[in-house]
Amino acid sequence: MSKNYSPIKAAAICSFTGHKLQVTHQVNDRIQELCCVKCGKQMTTNIYGNIVPLSDQYSRINRALNDLAVKKNRRELGIYS
Ligand SMILES: [Zn+2]
Repeated sequence: MSKNYSPIKAAAICSFTGHKLQVTHQVNDRIQELCCVKCGKQMTTNIYGNIVPLSDQYSRINRALNDLAVKKNRRELGIYS
């Protein structure tokens, strides 16, 4: 890591060049949590398909949606618990 590196600088570069987002968690078939490999900023897609910063609220929504997706998958596979 160069001594000139700082997260603030990385975020500033991202504001010019755009974030380089990588999927960190697939919540359900439409919603993903993403992380920028350059500045580490966490983002998520919302129900409208827009990419928004991952807030506490979105994090809770995503957890609930993920629980539903898991239950739905189990039902489709015929696994009851
Ligand atoms: Zn970034």
